[in-house]
Amino acid sequence: MVVKVAINGYGTIGKRVADAVDAQDDMEIVGVTKTRPAFGCDLAVRKGYPIYCTYDEPDKINAFAAAGYDCHGGLSDLLNVADIVIDCSPGKVGASNLAKYKSASIKWIFQGGEKHATTGMSYTSSANHSANLNAEGTRVVSCNTTGLSRTLVPLYHHCGSLSVECTMIRRAADPGDSSKGPINAIKPVLKVPSHHGPDVMTVKPEISINSMAVAVPTTIMHVHVIVAQLPDGHNLTTESIIDMWSQEPRIILMSGAETGITTTAEVMEYARDIGRKWGDLHEIFVWRDGVKLEGNTLYYFQAIHQESDVIPENIDAIRALMGVEDDWRASVAKTDDAIARYNNIL
Ligand code: NAD
Repeated sequence: MVVKVAINGYGTIGKRVADAVDAQDDMEIVGVTKTRPAFGCDLAVRKGYPIYCTYDEPDKINAFAAAGYDCHGGLSDLLNVADIVIDCSPGKVGASNLAKYKSASIKWIFQGGEKHATTGMSYTSSANHSANLNAEGTRVVSCNTTGLSRTLVPLYHHCGSLSVECTMIRRAADPGDSSKGPINAIKPVLKVPSHHGPDVMTVKPEISINSMAVAVPTTIMHVHVIVAQLPDGHNLTTESIIDMWSQEPRIILMSGAETGITTTAEVMEYARDIGRKWGDLHEIFVWRDGVKLEGNTLYYFQAIHQESDVIPENIDAIRALMGVEDDWRASVAKTDDAIARYNNIL
């Protein structure tokens, strides 16, 4: 079966998910939506993805032809030819699209900018793939929550309980976004705890976690400062935790001292060096020399490439909802292999 995938919202996340879908042999892009015939349509044209209008009004659809773009119809037309839609509209906008997906009797995936309450179901590959099997719809959690899950879920599975406090040092904006800030300040998120940590509990409720957050003037990556309390009798050492993570997918462990990769700037340069499209890094980056277990307390830092860690998770979520792969590790391997070949990475 080749799953027919629609992308509603062809922006930062949508264009990346589209290419990741296109890389797989068990799914295909049947169309992407744009709100209007703007410059972003050219990318879809270059990739050969059929363009649809975000809206169904004839005047909005006809505006595409007037600007020289071949528009195949409105959102309803796209939903009619798809098995599943990946909603990549701006945060909090997606929820208003839910009724359309339900009336089209199509499966749907939202992104982390929507609330868990909108969907009643959330997703990360390592935490709850099986709970999402054959579900009507889900929400791939945010980049931060995805990153926390990658390292905390295997740790939880080893320990059987986990209590976590973390500080999220958040990039102020995506690199392509000129309208956000701060540009010369550190901005605490005054809603305490921040939503990031508790959001992990939408995919792994057994992990007890809280977080605080600050936004800083950078566009490249978030950094998490994590302190986890392990239960008595955990049997782990700093080295065995590093070994455990090194055997998990989508985690890169490197020594800052040995590689010289000591900041997010060098992490992103590394992603460009290895030829990743857009300079993306789907993996979570953990500094080996920043991991330390003292008694029952584990300290570590990790860096999150905000625009890309959720991309392969969307692909696995498609397989879960469509019921085509019930083993999350098998899906992850298939997804990552296809993306690597697409990126021409050996
Ligand atoms: P974006 O603004 O880059 O792209 C959104 C796209 O949706 C734009 O092309 C916009 O024109 C289009 N759009 C506007 N209104 C729409 C509507 N009503 N229906 C469909 N499309 C519409 O946003 P983004 O950064 O790609 O974020 C998309 C989602 O992914 C959000 O929920 C966000 O929270 C989440 N997310 C973003 C990041 C990130 O770093 N950018 C990381 C993880 C998750």
